[in-house]
Amino acid sequence: MRFRQAIWDEPLLFEKPSNEVEPPTTGLVPPKLARRDLDLPNLPEWEVVRHFTRLSQMTFGIDSGFYPLGSCTMKFNPKVNEELAALPGVRRAHPCQDESTVQGSLQILYELQQILAQIGGMDAVTLQPAAGAQGEFTGLLLAHAYHADRGEGARDEVLLPDTAHGTNFASAGMLGYKVLEVPSRDGQVDLAALRKAAGPRTLALMLTNPNTLGIFESRVQEIAEIVHEAGGLLYYDGANFNAILGRTNPGAMGFDILHLNLHKTFTTPHGGGGPGVGPVGVKKHLAPYLPVPIVAYDGVRYTLEYDRPKSIGKVRAWYGNFALLVRAYAYILGQGSDGLKWVTDRAVLNANYLKHRLNSHLEVPYPGVRKHEFVASGSTLKERGLRTVDLAKRLMDFGFHPPTVYFPHLIDEAIMPEPTETESKETLDAFADAVAAILKEDPEVVRTAPHNTAARRVDEVLAAREPILSWRMWQAKKGA
Ligand SMILES: *Cc1c(COP(=O)(O)O)cnc(C)c1O
Repeated sequence: MRFRQAIWDEPLLFEKPSNEVEPPTTGLVPPKLARRDLDLPNLPEWEVVRHFTRLSQMTFGIDSGFYPLGSCTMKFNPKVNEELAALPGVRRAHPCQDESTVQGSLQILYELQQILAQIGGMDAVTLQPAAGAQGEFTGLLLAHAYHADRGEGARDEVLLPDTAHGTNFASAGMLGYKVLEVPSRDGQVDLAALRKAAGPRTLALMLTNPNTLGIFESRVQEIAEIVHEAGGLLYYDGANFNAILGRTNPGAMGFDILHLNLHKTFTTPHGGGGPGVGPVGVKKHLAPYLPVPIVAYDGVRYTLEYDRPKSIGKVRAWYGNFALLVRAYAYILGQGSDGLKWVTDRAVLNANYLKHRLNSHLEVPYPGVRKHEFVASGSTLKERGLRTVDLAKRLMDFGFHPPTVYFPHLIDEAIMPEPTETESKETLDAFADAVAAILKEDPEVVRTAPHNTAARRVDEVLAAREPILSWRMWQAKKGA
């Protein structure tokens, strides 16, 4: 068993002993131009380099180890994407430049629109939304614009399965829509309940497939028929696209609108609150309402098309998170269509292998195979006075980022690993072995974990109520 290396507590630069170097008195800088009395820590270069290197080791990222954070698709981000996004033509392009001077950038955006439409089984795509959640917001605005155009603007109910992600509820709520929660049965949408909920006030059903339990909604076409017959639209939450790439698509399942989380499925780096990019695709009947501008191509020139009278307008500044769009474009072209299929096959295989390995240690509700992730229950830990959160924290001592916990809500003490395609069998085995070892440990050791990290168990309630986010806030708190 390899334990994560214990990491020292690194002081801030301000707290380090200063004045180790005398400011140069002679040299290339003329004395009258030399800046004096700067309020900066006076430290030699090596101290600064070591400081930032240590800080980088006090956190956990996909480049440091296994990061099975379910629903978030923390896969490795190939470094070649970074190099391409750093090319001067990409890095230095300014959004105010004349179209004629950025034809290459526009070509990338145009081709990405086409590729994502094909991947999603859609007819048109906007690259603007900043993340999945904003894609949902955009998609609901599109659904409203469509209904309003047909004289049905009063539709104000959004149907959400009880497995839905929290952002679905938030997006519908932000727009003032009424949310009707549809219960699930054996891990899938209860069709009888859906029939009851769908009606003349249905704006849309939002669904992710496979759902957040990692279970494929095998009756998705019936679901689509029920919602369409009621006059509603179908919105596909694409956060779980890693499970279906190149195998099927939301268009084929009957969806009208989708968002894709490029930062999940297509390897643009994410975490710590950003950055993201959440393009939205639609079928033909919704294309006129897409945000402006759309990138267009007439066979000779690429242009930004603003003349779209039915458009809902803009949802974000400029043209989307360009540097991330370039990374996703590079990733997709790098894989090719067979490669994308391989991604999904391997991600699904990895999830099912890990489920199989953990089955004897944790209860996994609902029988059958999963797609790219699965949800287990830590309820049996209670017998030893432990909870899922304790297991999650202890995993950090073994060098693993904890899986998602307490989501989805319908599973007691939920723990949700998503290994992604990046990981090897050796890594998955080591993770399963760590879980097995932790379950045999002294409960007190587990309850007080983590022990080997820079920060020990944090008081999550206090952290949310009284966040101290900067050195100044910390000083003020200490002084108070
Ligand atoms: C991540 C996620 C979202 C929200 O996407 P963001 O890009 O984080 O805004 C929505 N639904 C599901 C199922 C997700 O996993």
